[in-house]
Amino acid sequence: MTGSKRKAQATQESLHRIFTIPEAPNSTLGRIEKEISENLAGFLGNHIAAKEQLLSEIEKDFDCSKIPEQPTFVSDHMHHLLDKLVSQSVHTSSPSFIGHMTSALPYFILPLSKLMVGLNQNLVKIETSKAFTPLERQVLGMLHRLVYQNDDNFYDTWMHSANHSLGAFCSGGTVANITALWVARNNLLGPDGTFKGVAREGIFQALKHYQYEGLAILVSSRGHYSLKKSADILGLGQDSVIAISTDEHNKIDCQKLKEKCQALAAKNIRVLSIVGVAGTTETGNIDPLTEMAKIAQQYDCHFHVDAAWGGATLLSEKYRPLLQGIELADSVTIDAHKQMYVPMGAGLVVFKNPASVASIEHHAEYILRKGSKDLGSHTLEGSRPGMAMLVYASLHVISRPGYELLINQSIDKANYFADIIEQHPDFELITKPELCLLTYRYNPKVVQTFLTQADDDAQDLANSILDKLTKFIQKRQRENGKSFVSRTRIEVQKYRGRKTLVFRVVLANPLTSREILEDVLIEQNELAKESHTFLPKLISLSTSR
Ligand SMILES: *Cc1c(COP(=O)(O)O)cnc(C)c1O
Repeated sequence: MTGSKRKAQATQESLHRIFTIPEAPNSTLGRIEKEISENLAGFLGNHIAAKEQLLSEIEKDFDCSKIPEQPTFVSDHMHHLLDKLVSQSVHTSSPSFIGHMTSALPYFILPLSKLMVGLNQNLVKIETSKAFTPLERQVLGMLHRLVYQNDDNFYDTWMHSANHSLGAFCSGGTVANITALWVARNNLLGPDGTFKGVAREGIFQALKHYQYEGLAILVSSRGHYSLKKSADILGLGQDSVIAISTDEHNKIDCQKLKEKCQALAAKNIRVLSIVGVAGTTETGNIDPLTEMAKIAQQYDCHFHVDAAWGGATLLSEKYRPLLQGIELADSVTIDAHKQMYVPMGAGLVVFKNPASVASIEHHAEYILRKGSKDLGSHTLEGSRPGMAMLVYASLHVISRPGYELLINQSIDKANYFADIIEQHPDFELITKPELCLLTYRYNPKVVQTFLTQADDDAQDLANSILDKLTKFIQKRQRENGKSFVSRTRIEVQKYRGRKTLVFRVVLANPLTSREILEDVLIEQNELAKESHTFLPKLISLSTSR
């Protein structure tokens, strides 16, 4: 309704209205609300444009930096949002959107989210959240128990204890990882004699006092980039995150890990933390956690497990054994907004020892008084929303066996997809799914055969053309808007560790059917044939010798 004649006015009365009077059921917003609550999938399907616009075009709709001097009626503004924003957003909950870790949400989440926003609790302190604080502590307790499996007595003692915390709820895996390493750093470089601790005196004085040449964080080359961010803001520098190479299954090479620990010790560089990954972001593999825990113990360093994505697998009795050794970790990161089907903004870290968070404790006079149960004294973030309610509700509504079904189903689906890729002559499976994530690429049979016999140079040449073809197909597929897979570049052992472009698929959406997966291959196969440069080049290269 861009041609609307009505003009809104910024008056006391109009402002009073927006705070007190709901939008009428037959207003634009009222109708949208109804549609969203009755048929979200239909709403998104209708309003998100299938054909994508160039980002440079979209930017033109968002190029004015002036704050409006003239208010807009909600309905008019809603039309604007639908037209310019919603239509050009991404249909992440579509069953054929299988490229990322966030997917569909259960229906009950929508009204609950609205309630959460309406209540607008601030979890930083009890004064502004009351029952939300014990609820969040319970959620942390539940996830702690999922990882560490202590007895009732343990949780009775610690879950609601003022000076302890079983973990920290935060906005996501990044902040969870930062929090874990912050705790590790402050415990390692704590107060000692006249030294007041790194939290007070900073990293420079701490290294001087403890006489270390530096600190290091060791993780496999598949580690998430949030660890480098953590090292950066904790004052260690990104280069102190040392990547250890992986075996052919994308799991950290423990022999190399030991050798690195040894070499660092010889240079008087203290290993702050060894980080195991339980579900790597790119390939979905799980490090040998038990063995890593032993090495961490041997070198007396914090053992953190980044299970941001894969942690939810613990809810499946069938697949829980894949994460064996996670219970030996000093801290574990889990994102509820990935495989627990909670909306974005729900990550957490749990600590084996409920006292370890004392090292990051902060107090302030007007809030977070000593001895209070305020959650804000042990979190990096200050004001935080009541997202824990959504995790709490999901754990109750779905329950552990429900999650088990979802998780098992996703892994089965990934195995099915891997099977049809392997059976297809013109596709190549690059990494087999251990959880519900796999990578592959389009690679015609003649080229596959050629690659097994080619010398190194010819292999590199063919692979570099294949990279271009992969990118071509992935972009075309996204632009078509029917389905979506992501792409990433990973080292492939089979090709002498060459960094190779691959499609990456995460099968978390319960509504993704086998038929959709079959269709994805059909579509990609057709798109490949539209490449009039790369495909012919490959074929002639492969058949010319
Ligand atoms: C997603 C992910 C993160 C980061 O989590 P955010 O919620 O995006 O901040 C960290 N580690 C791993 C292994 C992840 O998959």
